[in-house]
Amino acid sequence: MEQSILDGCAAYPKQEIARVITDLLPRALTLYLVEQIQPDGRPILASQLPKDARRELIRLMKEMPLTIQAIRPLAEATITRGGVSLDEIESTTMQSKLCPGLFFAGEVINADGPCGGYNLQIAWSTGALAGKQAGQWSKNHIS
Ligand SMILES: Cc1cc2nc3c(=O)[nH]c(=O)nc-3n(C[C@H](O)[C@H](O)[C@H](O)COP(=O)(O)OP(=O)(O)OC[C@H]3O[C@@H](n4cnc5c(N)ncnc54)[C@H](O)[C@@H]3O)c2cc1C
Repeated sequence: MEQSILDGCAAYPKQEIARVITDLLPRALTLYLVEQIQPDGRPILASQLPKDARRELIRLMKEMPLTIQAIRPLAEATITRGGVSLDEIESTTMQSKLCPGLFFAGEVINADGPCGGYNLQIAWSTGALAGKQAGQWSKNHIS
């Protein structure tokens, strides 16, 4: 990383430092990082980049602290974590261990996998099992 910046400074000595690191990072991030090392807001030329500012720039590029301001709404979620604990569900029937006659399937269960079909498979498999078992349970318990 440091060598890349040194090479960039050598290649573009009369350019602002933002120009030098534009090749390494997205532009919006470049502008933000450069602001952090320009205490008085004045542009720094590549040939005049102090060593401590260069080190700070590298530090920020490698470990810039980010604070989460907000999360996207649940309505946009792709996978929902949390839900009814697996410890409270009989796995061969999907019936609640706490409330007989209540069956769970899919997202409502605290089970999730990576994107790529695992969650749909969880929903279909548990749904098929819960549906069959709920039907059976109804036949046996509801006259
Ligand atoms: C944008 C997006 C992309 C996804 N991509 C993938 C993927 O690539 N691979 C993967 O494995 N998973 C993916 N998922 C997750 C996957 O779609 C879900 O895990 C799965 O659909 C869950 O199925 P479900 O039947 O449990 O719940 P849902 O599919 O959420 O079905 C619940 C249904 O209940 C209805 N409902 C809610 N409240 C009531 C009520 N009070 N009365 C009657 N009906 C009600 C809802 O309208 C909805 O139709 C994706 C999800 C999203 C949102």
